[in-house]
Amino acid sequence: MLAALPPGTTLQQIFSHYWSQIEWMESGKPCNAKAMFENIQEIVRHAISKIYQLHDIGDFGCSRTWMNRTVMDDKVPLSAKLYFFMQHTSHWKCQHGHEFSLPGTQLHPAVKFEQWDIQKFLTLHSKSKVIDLSEYIRDIIPRNSGNGPAGARGSVPVHLEPPVLCPYSSCNSVPSEMTHVYTSWPRFLNFSPPEDALANFPGVSIHMSHNIKIPLTFGADPELESTPCITYQLVGRSVFHKSHYTTDILIPYEGEMQTYHYDDMRIPKNK
Ligand SMILES: [Zn+2]
Repeated sequence: MLAALPPGTTLQQIFSHYWSQIEWMESGKPCNAKAMFENIQEIVRHAISKIYQLHDIGDFGCSRTWMNRTVMDDKVPLSAKLYFFMQHTSHWKCQHGHEFSLPGTQLHPAVKFEQWDIQKFLTLHSKSKVIDLSEYIRDIIPRNSGNGPAGARGSVPVHLEPPVLCPYSSCNSVPSEMTHVYTSWPRFLNFSPPEDALANFPGVSIHMSHNIKIPLTFGADPELESTPCITYQLVGRSVFHKSHYTTDILIPYEGEMQTYHYDDMRIPKNK
């Protein structure tokens, strides 16, 4: 990961910091931890207030906002951005049989819960008031932001995006048929809070297990044991309460996963 990030970028400095922390913890060698933490806090504070100009000095805001900005930094190449963000690539076939693909222009920092996908899930699993995230994601429709075409609910399903001209020379035929959509799943997958999407479904909640399985091929029979899956491991969550963000991190402790509750490092505003 570190090798993929341009030196000097905020993202590279954050990863470099955590690499030092891991080395420190694994080696047990004395380290000037206070200086190490003060250094990274200064780097992040500088990025938030000066580089991205999101908040005044002393305010950190939501990590989701500024972490996304560090990824979207122009100096970070697309290949590295895809470690953090999803991208949908559509594959097309023209009426003369030419096949081509178009990588999506939109990068998605998190899986967003979509009211219509929730509605569909509840219709399919009519007895359930608890939505299992792995089951939900198995039926999720890849979407880009913007308004969907007439008749399509929610934001634009990638497979319903307008046809494009065939790029093969002197072909230019239209319409083209979309044959399939590839989703590039990031190494670090984030989920947006579901509250807005759940607003119209009283009593319904999302259950996030420690492991989330995403089938490599959507539309395959989900009952088939042989369907290969990508497995994500839950490592933490950000919690917003009382105008303040905290983090719950899962860490192994004495053979079991334990929750470490992390409150941010607050600093006086006059510093
Ligand atoms: Zn063509």
